[in-house]
Amino acid sequence: ERLLARPELPIGTALQTRGLPARTLDGFVRPLLSALLCDPDLTTSSRCADLALRGFARGRLCVPTGGASVLPELLAAALPPGTVRSGVKVTSVATTAVTTADHGVIGCRSLLLATDARAASELLPGLRVPPFHPVTVVHHTAPAPPLAEPALLLDADGGGPVAHTAVMSEVDPARAPRGRALISSTVLGPPPPDLETSVLAHLGRLYGTSTADWDLLAVRHTPEAVPAMPAPHDVRRPVRLLAGLYVCGDHRDTSTVQGALYSGRRAAHALLSDLGLRPATPKPKAMRPAA
Ligand SMILES: Cc1cc2nc3c(=O)[nH]c(=O)nc-3n(C[C@H](O)[C@H](O)[C@H](O)COP(=O)(O)OP(=O)(O)OC[C@H]3O[C@@H](n4cnc5c(N)ncnc54)[C@H](O)[C@@H]3O)c2cc1C
Repeated sequence: ERLLARPELPIGTALQTRGLPARTLDGFVRPLLSALLCDPDLTTSSRCADLALRGFARGRLCVPTGGASVLPELLAAALPPGTVRSGVKVTSVATTAVTTADHGVIGCRSLLLATDARAASELLPGLRVPPFHPVTVVHHTAPAPPLAEPALLLDADGGGPVAHTAVMSEVDPARAPRGRALISSTVLGPPPPDLETSVLAHLGRLYGTSTADWDLLAVRHTPEAVPAMPAPHDVRRPVRLLAGLYVCGDHRDTSTVQGALYSGRRAAHALLSDLGLRPATPKPKAMRPAA
């Protein structure tokens, strides 16, 4: 709560007033925040950035073993069989029914819309669509790991185009093709036209090794990867639109997995309360991390 009471500025501006040595700021804090927020220009609200730093300091960084899809799969596995249906495209929504592209109309007592911001605004016109930060992730394989540690390597020289990179097979061996090291690298902002060659050259400098025997595995460009959080940013956007109609996702909270989960919990509490099943207010908690 103390972080959220601070003046709210673009974090790039706020950092100049915090009395940190230039070496610490430029060599560590700025590149780390760019990585945590997917925001190379550091225009994010200083409150959201402080929450991200707090989360990093308290919880460090982590990924689910086996890939990002493991978390929703585990959540779904805790529910009675048949509760969750996937691969169903929704084309319109109401408080009493959901219309799907190929599976007809499904009746409901309440509707909770848990899509990305763009899809949410298409299904419920009038919902705000925020600006987004684009993210491009480039995956390489190599015969041997260029760094034998599960470390996040930040580009503090600003030479680009890679903002940060990690030998993911050192973090989670399950992600790598058999017998190869997996190196995943992130380019923030619009990718350069010579993406593949410039990324490989930059990785050679960052890891201090030859990349001649590396193979390009995949390039994933997501233009609307992360909702931008410029100041002032409301970290608790309403999730209850009316009785029976709710919306959640990273665009209602902070632009992170935690933000999406917290907004989902707020929406679930509101829905259950409207159905007379549980109190509306989630139990008060200490302010949570946002990285
Ligand atoms: C490359 C990249 C790297 C990231 N790195 C990090 C990170 O390191 N840490 C972090 O905390 N966050 C990170 N994020 C952000 C994080 O992934 C998101 O904040 C989080 O996934 C948001 O969850 P969500 O449930 O709000 O939305 P989503 O994860 O986008 O889920 C929305 C779901 O709705 C479904 N959907 C959409 N339209 C329809 C429709 N019409 N019918 C049916 N289903 C529909 C979609 O298929 C999707 O499954 C990253 C994002 C990207 C793209």
